[in-house]
Amino acid sequence: ALPHVAWIGLGVMGSPMSEHLIKAGYPVTGHTLEAHKLDRLAAAGGTPAASVAEAVRGADVIVTMLPADPQVEAVALGADGVLAHARPGALLIDMSTVAPRTSVALAEAAAAGGKGVRVLDAPVSGGEAGAVEGALSVMVGGTAADFAAAKPLLGTFGTTVARCGGHGAGQTVKAANQLIVAVTLQACAEAVVLLEKSGVDLATALDVLGGGLAGSAVLSRKRRNFLTREYAPGFRVDLHHKDMGIVTDAARAVGAALPLGSAAATLMASARARGDGGLDHSALLRGVELLSGT
Ligand code: NAD
Repeated sequence: ALPHVAWIGLGVMGSPMSEHLIKAGYPVTGHTLEAHKLDRLAAAGGTPAASVAEAVRGADVIVTMLPADPQVEAVALGADGVLAHARPGALLIDMSTVAPRTSVALAEAAAAGGKGVRVLDAPVSGGEAGAVEGALSVMVGGTAADFAAAKPLLGTFGTTVARCGGHGAGQTVKAANQLIVAVTLQACAEAVVLLEKSGVDLATALDVLGGGLAGSAVLSRKRRNFLTREYAPGFRVDLHHKDMGIVTDAARAVGAALPLGSAAATLMASARARGDGGLDHSALLRGVELLSGT
């Protein structure tokens, strides 16, 4: 029989991801803060739970998909949390984007707990569309044996699923992902303003750019946002700002230079400061427009 899964955090990403598990036949019990998300889980064939403790008690595998480090620490380590209530030998897969050292600390806390609970970090890339389509990239840190056990489950919503190293390695790769996406988004935004101010047809320009070396997943997936100036998330500026803090800390820890990454982090912070934190991160374009007097 397929393992029983507890899913904690049914947001933009967690809802569609958990529904892929349900469709694949996994029994899923879920918990999250918004009541309407629990209703959605029930409608999809899952079982809503009133607390983390209730969700994890009977689970073989526990997945967390929460906003950031403080929520992951509270849900995993709190008195009512995962480690306190998981059954012996359960596998905790944290798919949130957090600092690599948070993933290492979780694995250490699980080992110290004496129940044989195992931990993987498994952040994802591909955005809301990737979650809905089941086409995410999943970057995993932890032991090879635990990765082998988790791989079929991760494959229900992931098309590229890879173990990148020990605990925290998945988060380090995700930090690199967020660095590349932020810098690329900013470059695309600057190109959009240059093109428009020059009177070139933007849709045509983006098409031909997409066919050459400048083409990227960022350019093609954010094309609609650039053309319409609509910034419904998607991936919120607030979350990418959080991630740029992780990138900056991770780079400082190993002495890696971030000349463009630090500029992108500043621009993400300024997007937040001007009130765009709840918008999709393609709203970096609004900052270039402001600087350009557009
Ligand atoms: P979200 O804010 O939409 O969802 C987070 C969910 O966590 C919410 O449903 C909330 O109720 C729940 N939650 C928070 N605290 C909780 C608690 N104490 N107990 C139970 N549930 C709790 O966020 P999201 O966009 O789904 O992102 C989740 C994670 O995935 C983040 O770390 C983000 O950086 C990462 N991520 C997001 C995207 C994206 O495009 N949205 C892409 C890749 C990675």
